[in-house]
Amino acid sequence: MAKIYFLDVTNRDGVQTANLGLSKLEKTMINMYLNEMGVFQSEFGFPTTRHESLYLQANLELADMGVLQPIRLEGWIRAVAADVEKAFKLVPNIKHLNVSISTSHQMIQGKFKGTKSREDIVSMMVDALEAAHAHGAASVGVNAEDASRTKIDFLVKFGLAAKEHGAQRLRYCDTLGYDNPFTIYESAKTLAENVGMPIELHCHGDLGMAVANSVAGAKGAIDGGQDAYINTTVNGIGERAGNADLVATALAVTKSKGFAEKYQLEKPIDLTKAWKLSRFASYAFRVPIPVNQPGVGANAFAHSSGIHADGVLKDPENYELYSFDEVGRGEPELVETGREICSGEYSGISGFSHIMGQMAVKFKDAGQAKKILELARYANVEAQKPLVEDELLFIAKYPKIAKKLLTLTPPE
Ligand SMILES: [Zn+2]
Repeated sequence: MAKIYFLDVTNRDGVQTANLGLSKLEKTMINMYLNEMGVFQSEFGFPTTRHESLYLQANLELADMGVLQPIRLEGWIRAVAADVEKAFKLVPNIKHLNVSISTSHQMIQGKFKGTKSREDIVSMMVDALEAAHAHGAASVGVNAEDASRTKIDFLVKFGLAAKEHGAQRLRYCDTLGYDNPFTIYESAKTLAENVGMPIELHCHGDLGMAVANSVAGAKGAIDGGQDAYINTTVNGIGERAGNADLVATALAVTKSKGFAEKYQLEKPIDLTKAWKLSRFASYAFRVPIPVNQPGVGANAFAHSSGIHADGVLKDPENYELYSFDEVGRGEPELVETGREICSGEYSGISGFSHIMGQMAVKFKDAGQAKKILELARYANVEAQKPLVEDELLFIAKYPKIAKKLLTLTPPE
């Protein structure tokens, strides 16, 4: 039986959202949390973008060190052979790529303005695949941008050409959130049956159906005999109305009516990490978690009306589908209400030692403490808000990696 995999795209789709962004250290922390949670793959950034190079290299080093393991780190680029060349030049140790190109009539006409035919689209994609394999890429997925507005016959043709040239997955992008669960089910099933390659479901929320479409698309791929790779982002942050939310989608595939009896995850997602990850992403993006967010919203386990409160006190299963501790909630949180010493770009050694001491971090000498403080100050320059405990601990534990993440040198 084919299985479901989770492929998170927060560090690609999430960070390209208008008005939002993450520092390179924050992106790294997201990868660390996704790994802890058991997510199969993180689309961790843009290998052709120069300011990402050191971040991507540093994260691949963390993978080699066994820190970012077993998560797979994959970079997103356009399906253009020259971009593949540039990606391997800037990030030579990259192993996994997704190459993306528009496939719909609307976009081929609207973006390429009559300079490209559908045949050109297929041959550009094939050239990009061949270039990636020539550089020794371990896996390449092919993205059909605007797949939901693309004629299915052409998508099959596109997918077959990708498969013939060694692609490992076909990403069905519902770029505009146009699908509904019924249409995406049919498309994913048709592609799985006729292309014979694992299908990625990349869904957006413009009509409020990103999670539902992801679940239906996964069902379609599996009913068609192929593995399903659901694309998610933390807190659903993504272009416009966002992507399928990681936690909500994981809850949907594991807890919705009868679904998990037949459609299973390749390996479990550890939802007890959901609370920590969602809160971190909310802080890092500076986007509050909506009170009604599944699992992690403030009201997800709140009851006030008489009948509900009475019912849940008698037996939580009366009004709760799953328990708060399953999503990592229930621990009391300490909030400082008096004096607070926090990290900043102008922090000094005394305050910094106080903060690190509270976390029981011991430095071997004053020189080491100063070095870590300097890194933390740089991290604050990028983040423009106090670092969280896990970020400070990360810097103290991996100072060489942190230095790489914090080094931004524009080309001449
Ligand atoms: Zn997207």
